[in-house]
Parts: sequence; structure tokens; C-alpha cells
Amino acid sequence: MQEYNAYETGLKEECGVFGIYDLDGHNVGSSIYYGLSALQHRGQESCGIAVSDTYGPKGVVNSYKGLGLVNEVFKESDLRKLKGNIGVGHVRYSTSGATTLENAQPLVLNYIKGTLALAHNGNLVNALDLRHKQEYSGAIFQTTIDSEVIAYSIARERINSKTVEEAVLKTAKQIKGGYALVIMSPRKLIAVRDPFGLKPLCLGKRDNTYIVASESCALSAVGADFIRDIHPGEILTITKSGIHSNLELQQEKKAHCIFEYIYFARLDSKIDGISVYDSRIRGGAALAKSYPVDADLVVGVPDSGLAAAKGYSEESGIPFALAFHKNSYIGRTFIKPTQEERESSVKIKLSVLESVVRGKRIVLVDDSIVRGTTMANLITMMKQAGAKEVHVRVSSPPFLYPCYFGTDVPSNKQLIAYKHTPEEICELIGADSLGYMKIEDLQEMVGGLPLCMACFNNDYPMEVPKINLRENFTSM
Ligand code: AMP
Repeated sequence: MQEYNAYETGLKEECGVFGIYDLDGHNVGSSIYYGLSALQHRGQESCGIAVSDTYGPKGVVNSYKGLGLVNEVFKESDLRKLKGNIGVGHVRYSTSGATTLENAQPLVLNYIKGTLALAHNGNLVNALDLRHKQEYSGAIFQTTIDSEVIAYSIARERINSKTVEEAVLKTAKQIKGGYALVIMSPRKLIAVRDPFGLKPLCLGKRDNTYIVASESCALSAVGADFIRDIHPGEILTITKSGIHSNLELQQEKKAHCIFEYIYFARLDSKIDGISVYDSRIRGGAALAKSYPVDADLVVGVPDSGLAAAKGYSEESGIPFALAFHKNSYIGRTFIKPTQEERESSVKIKLSVLESVVRGKRIVLVDDSIVRGTTMANLITMMKQAGAKEVHVRVSSPPFLYPCYFGTDVPSNKQLIAYKHTPEEICELIGADSLGYMKIEDLQEMVGGLPLCMACFNNDYPMEVPKINLRENFTSM
């Protein structure tokens, strides 16, 4: 396998995908717009829509994409131009430096047998191997490697396949990693989920319209009913004669990403039968059992720490309170390139409600500590506002290892838990006590669901191009 360092290549992706096919022929552009808006939390860097008319001339794809949030990129006039009853959409999240329009999706490819548009969430572990094969066959690559590798592979396989879904199957047999794909060919919508089920993908229906989306919250947003999750390893093809499911790639071993439940997914989504909200409540309750403390109030860091804080409060009997005002018009702080920018944006995004915290012993719950910037800032702000004690509870274990399947994590050099023990971290962030979720309790969050929690335990569900983290480590 080709050796590469996911951090250096900048291949990280955590995105949202959406696909829709209106069998009655109505335009789907605005539904994609609303679906993508509901998936905005999965990516704020760029977004795009590609549509086609299954009743029109074959292979005409109208697409529009841009940098920014869905409501910034699409004006009403842009949407009106996107005429067609089948389409795919994408919201993209990636590290700084890769914010270019060329990297925005859907990727539209014109090839010898027609056109295809592809929206992709995830990361492959063998993209470079496949890319080299393709370069050999003359393809030219400039942008997001993984998505292009997949699209070019489908195009190449299509030449010797009877149908596009056969080409997709041949491609899916070659790619390894975590992925959710929605592919539009002129007359078909195809959804693919990786055999481990690392990335979420579900199916819904509204009247005579089928919809696939990264999360069920996007189905609700367009008035569709949730039908089911796409099975790990399933290739689902929607045509005018209905749905066809190919399960050839299904395997026994499943490994759903725990980080979807901890942080990524929206609270009102249900993934693989588990409500994200319920899982976070259970996580918070587990924290209360493992790390009880005498305190006056339990508060959560908006938004992803709130449900776990509620769970902690319910289990401990300590009242839940709102301690922050969140400015909803500021983007996520995590992705800001420099430490200075990150620090100032925490303060711009969150402010402490002094009247709530003054003189109180506070349990402060967040979903994760990555670099420690957010927590250190919030504790300082709380103490400045008069909090007597701040006891930090984190609804995930120490973040230690990289994700090769598409969750955006900084290099291990920046992971605070990599260099410091929990006791040291407690001191560094200025907390009065610190409790991280135990690995055993992660499983409790989601019942018996088989998980990938490699970012916490280094146990990857498939072979990955491992970096020796200890040796790789230089300084914070
Ligand atoms: P940090 O300040 O670097 O410790 O980041 C911690 C904050 O980032 C927490 O409040 C999390 O909600 C958030 N976070 C955790 N993981 C991610 C991720 N992969 N992408 C974006 N934000 C994240």
C-alpha cells in the first residue's frame, strides 16, 4: 500500500451529501437547497448542486457551486436556473488551505459513455494506489483526490460494464475507507455506503420522490419520511421503475463512527437506529456516574455539549442551566488556521451569562477536547464572570489518534491529550477537576452498535497507512 500522511496531503473531508429523484418530473433544485441547509453543520466551506432532467436530452447537467454557506452561495435566481427532476448536492468541510472552488462538489464528469455527478463524504485509505493506476491510464488530476479517484474509476469501469451501477460496483470493490456517495447518472440516482458503515447515509420518500441524505434531519427538512438507513456495503439504485438494492459488498464486520454521535451529527438525526440526542443524554449520564462532584449547576458548551450536560444533570440531580449566549452568526472555531484566531473566535462566539454563574460551583460539559483552546478560554471566561469552581466533564475519551476515514482532526502535534495526562490537562485549562468519558461508556451511548472508535483506542477497522505518532511528535 502506498504510504502517505493524511495530515500532510490535506485530504481530510467531513461533508454532507444529498440526492433526490422526483419520479413525477418536478424540479428538485429547491429541495436540494433545503436539504443542504439542514446538513450545513457537516460542512461550511463550500457547497454545490447538480441537477438533470430525466425527460430531457440525456447527459445535460446543470450545476452551480461556490465557497461559503448554502444561503450565501445560492441566490433565488441561481436556483431557478437549476432545472431538473434528479440531482445531487454537497456541503464541504475541510482544513484551511484547501478552500478552493475546484474542491467544491458535486463533481461533474463528462466521459465517453455520458455524464455523472458525484457527491462524496469520507476518505479513502488507498486513494493514492488507485490514483497511480489511473494516471497510468492517462487521467489528469488536479483537485480533491478521493472524489476524483472514485469518479474516474466509475467512468473507466463504465466502458466495460452494461450499466452504470455495475461500474459503481466494480469501483466500490476497489476503494477502501469510509465513504458515503451519491451519484447521479442521466437517468439514475445511486447511493453507496462503505461496507463498515463508517459514514452515515439514509433513504427517505416524499410522495413519488426518493431522497438519500447523510442524515435524517435533511429528510425532515424537505418533508420526506425516513424509510431506512442505507446498509453498510449497499449500492442502492433508484430509477423510474423503482429501487434496486445490491448487497454484494456487505460484510460481517461493521464499524460505525462514534464521532457522529459525539459531535458531528445533528441532535434531531437518527443514525443506524440510534437517536443522536438520546445517545448524548446517555453519554452525559455515564459521565455523571463515573465522575460525580458536589456542584450547584450543570452547563453545556453550545451546541454539541448541551445534550450531554442535560444527561449529566438528570443522572446527578444537579440543576441544568444555560450559561452561555452563542452568537449563531459566527462559523465554527475549530477550523481557524492560527491559534490566535482560534482564541479570539471562541470569545466572539460564546459569552458567559454572569448572573447564572457568579458564585456557583459549575459542572461544564463539552463533547470533546481537541487542542484544548475552547475549554481553556471558557474556563477563564467563567472564572472572570465569578464562577467559584469549574469542573469539566468531557463526553468523549482523550482524543489521541488520527482519523483516516474523513473526520477532520489536527495533527497529533496539536492534540493536547497526546502530550499531556488528564491531570496535566486539568491544570493547563485551569479546571478544578476533569473527567473524560471512559471508553466502555462510549459503547453504552449507542447500545450494541458496532463502532469505530480508533481516534480514542487506536483500533482501526481496516489496514490504515499508520503514522508512528510518538515518533512523529515534535512539539505542541
Ligand atoms: P479545541 O478547542 O481544539 O479543544 O476544540 C474543541 C472543540 O471543537 C469542541 O468544542 C468540539 O465541539 C469541537 N470539535 C471537536 N471535534 C471537531 C471536529 N472534528 N471538527 C470541528 N470541531 C470539532
